[in-house]
Amino acid sequence: MSKIDLQKLNIDKIQQAFRAGDFSSEELTKAYLDNIKQDDTNSFISINDNALIEAKEADRKIKSKEAGSLTGIPIAIKDIILVKGQRATGGSKILENYQATYTATAVAKLREAGMVILGKTNCDEFAMGTSTEHSAYGPVKNPHDKTKVPGGSSGGSAAAVAANLAPIALGTDTGGSNRQPGAFCGVVGLKPSYGRVSRYGSMAMTSSLDQIGPLTNTIKDAAYILQAMAGFDKQDATSSTAKVADYVGDLDKDVKKLRIGIPKEYFNENLNKEIKQALEEKIAILTKEGFEIKEVSLPHTDYGLAAYYLIVPAEVSSNLARYDGILYGACTDKSLTLDEWYKTVRSQGFGAEVKRRIMLGTFVLSAGYYDAYYKKAQQVRTLIKHDFEQVFKEVDVLITPTTPTTAFALGEKVDDPLSLYLADVFTVGANIAGICGLSLPVAKDSNNLPIGMQLLAGQFQEANIFKLGNYIENKLKK
Ligand code: GLN
Repeated sequence: MSKIDLQKLNIDKIQQAFRAGDFSSEELTKAYLDNIKQDDTNSFISINDNALIEAKEADRKIKSKEAGSLTGIPIAIKDIILVKGQRATGGSKILENYQATYTATAVAKLREAGMVILGKTNCDEFAMGTSTEHSAYGPVKNPHDKTKVPGGSSGGSAAAVAANLAPIALGTDTGGSNRQPGAFCGVVGLKPSYGRVSRYGSMAMTSSLDQIGPLTNTIKDAAYILQAMAGFDKQDATSSTAKVADYVGDLDKDVKKLRIGIPKEYFNENLNKEIKQALEEKIAILTKEGFEIKEVSLPHTDYGLAAYYLIVPAEVSSNLARYDGILYGACTDKSLTLDEWYKTVRSQGFGAEVKRRIMLGTFVLSAGYYDAYYKKAQQVRTLIKHDFEQVFKEVDVLITPTTPTTAFALGEKVDDPLSLYLADVFTVGANIAGICGLSLPVAKDSNNLPIGMQLLAGQFQEANIFKLGNYIENKLKK
């Protein structure tokens, strides 16, 4: 067998190769594992020792014709998502030696479909960050330019796909963590609607915003993965019983019927000129091709970031209280009193960004400040949700930039939390409103760095962003 070309592989191409006997799942998995060994982007935290065994089992199914569309396809998993028996650090030192005791429902479903797990990817500590520089396991480098960040917090997952270390990776998105690294690394990043995918087995950062979603080379691959993961799970009361559409089957159906909105608040003076120009060019082509496109308004957009950075720390301070060093994680000096124990374990185990959010969250939830900050933020959340509900009465999909700039330099913003927070300005709205969104690569800037386009649609309307995304990906060549 000649060397497998791993460049931008996708599910259809891999399945075709399996059927034609060009390579087996075992050979493909081995090729990715070899690439991961030589990786210089720091995308992985650990490797699945059983990957080749899982691949062999997939090959058996393929031979005996028991295979489905995902059988034998390798995947990498963000280290915040649990896989039984495998290490799960969440990018944190406090879970350095933690081995998951159960498997996340989303991963269990992909495994049932025959996918092969390559390993666990690097991420910002407990998914708090925009550059993957807040990982206790070192920063990830952007495969397009190793002096740049890959975005975050799912930076390892996005970089792994961009560097051909995996054809597909799972991430989580609480305020943009799949879409923003997708944009920075030139891959597709999906945030499903709140409740579309079970959060069971995904370490909770902000329970009312978190969603698991894939990073892929193509829109169709994102559709395949969501198709397999979506649906109600009795282990997660917030997962929805709403019907899962036929995302893959309907990909080419009635695309031109989609009404497109351009929210004017997203094309403001903070948007990098090259990104603005690239998106305007694509929008002009879509207009020429007969799409109905109009300008719309989401008047409370400006307040999104402030609301997000109050709601998130509030939930973080509560969710991270469980890391006490007793049930999970490092236990140190047995002679300490309980108070000393907590203090030692938590001050040594958490990084600066996590501590910052725990303190801020504890503050905004405390008596006297709750009404002034937390309650106000929740009221703003309702207004933002309402903005989207109104707009989606008029249009089906919104086109916006994913990020205000392309990938920035490693080290450039790491000591300036506020400027990192500002990088989330276009992505947090979708999480606050519970709607779905994706980023797809549409162009490169003058430094050859990828530019992402964000597509947003109403809750459980993933089929619409897949359809338009697939059209743009295939018809509007870069
Ligand atoms: N960058 C955002 C934050 O730091 C988003 C994180 C995420 O989506 N997990 O909160």
